[in-house]
Amino acid sequence: MCGIFGVFGHREAAKLAYFGLYALQHRGQESAGIAVSNGREIREHKGMGLVAEVFDEETLVQLKGHIAVGHVRYSTTGASALKNAQPFCVTHSKHTYGIAHNGNLTNSRELRERLEAQGSIFQTTIDSEIILHLLAKVASRGIEEALTIVMETIEGAYSCLLLTEDKLIAFRDPHGFRPLCLGILNGGYVVASETCALDLIQAQYLRDIRPGEIVIIGKDGLQSIQAIPPSPRQARCIFEFIYFARPDSNVFGENVYLIRRSLGERLAEEARFDCDFVMPFPDSGNYAAVGYARASGLPFEMGVIRNHYVGRTFIQPSQSMRDFSVRVKLNPVKEIIRGQRVLVVDDSIVRGTTSRTRVRAIREAGASKIYMVISCPPIRFPCYFGIDFPSRGELIAARHQVEEIQRYLDLDGLHYLSLEGMLAACRAEDGSFCTACFTGQYPIEIRTDLSKNILERHP
Ligand code: AMP
Repeated sequence: MCGIFGVFGHREAAKLAYFGLYALQHRGQESAGIAVSNGREIREHKGMGLVAEVFDEETLVQLKGHIAVGHVRYSTTGASALKNAQPFCVTHSKHTYGIAHNGNLTNSRELRERLEAQGSIFQTTIDSEIILHLLAKVASRGIEEALTIVMETIEGAYSCLLLTEDKLIAFRDPHGFRPLCLGILNGGYVVASETCALDLIQAQYLRDIRPGEIVIIGKDGLQSIQAIPPSPRQARCIFEFIYFARPDSNVFGENVYLIRRSLGERLAEEARFDCDFVMPFPDSGNYAAVGYARASGLPFEMGVIRNHYVGRTFIQPSQSMRDFSVRVKLNPVKEIIRGQRVLVVDDSIVRGTTSRTRVRAIREAGASKIYMVISCPPIRFPCYFGIDFPSRGELIAARHQVEEIQRYLDLDGLHYLSLEGMLAACRAEDGSFCTACFTGQYPIEIRTDLSKNILERHP
């Protein structure tokens, strides 16, 4: 879970990157950073917190240059430390590189061990550093060939931006797990995790970066290289549609709002309950709830109100504080809920703890019946490709049947969208999506193949 944004050919590249990251803030709130080049040297600024907290007018003015790469980070595991913030910049053989990565490598541990055995010293625990170490080994071959070798070596999910003194480079894994799109702005280029970032700066969407493709943008224009063939098993992350991407973005060629609405329409086809109105848990359930109400003809109400100003201060790791943070974020409108049979729509249940507290709050507000529909199937398996799902032990649906979850959440009825229903609503029936969190069928084996490792061929 991260957001990346790159600019080439704008006088105020860092400022543009700042706006781009602002639009991608939902993809990560832990740290933010921008690296910028004026064609000769690279400067960077990174910090913990939200984009608006990390940057101000003064810091942005210092970041002079026409090429920039930005990153917002959502930490899943490991230390949430400043040293792990991105873009990650290094200097090697008189050249500086800055990298921003969205996704998760699946053979990073093995690669790191091999590199360390060969004498590499790591400063961070992030995958991006491994990519730069590998790149440094073969950098003398030129960026195009070097990156191709790196892409043949790393496995898993990566949508990446690389900044050099005079280039902006984008590359994407051959499975196409995470989105990455290309746009133009006044003759310059912009690359972003989601199209909502292009909209904000009024850039025009051109196309997606293709799986296995490297796009090199320099003063002579844009060069596209199909570095490795796209995998015959495409594995676009379906959870981008369900929850992660912003509804005003188009990812994988589809508008996220429309997909979410049709997920809700599917839900209405699959499950009906005797209720007075439909309401979402905002904001995650909003769009599927619109779809459910449209398809069922039931009235739509905003039965709980979200406080948009809840800062990270409330996000505490302890269980008691977690409940508190749920209550502070959503508050039921008692006058709407009292004595009513309500159907709540949400996008997903992960641990079940948030949902349980929210349902309890609706009970306390006086609902006579509470039914719940979820716009994806039960999440039973961890994600190795960048979505923050906990270990199987913590995923409620990995250990419990739907009836047990219904009891745990104290619901009068619960329905999860079927796998078929989800695939149909997402136009994903062609098998080009990763649905491993629901099915356990991982698109790539979670193991390491060192046979094609560059460390073998380029020790
Ligand atoms: P819970 O009941 O604790 O499983 O939380 C469910 C809520 O968390 C839903 O409203 C989801 O939108 C949201 N959610 C979705 N994906 C994730 C995730 N990867 N990590 C944390 N929360 C998520």
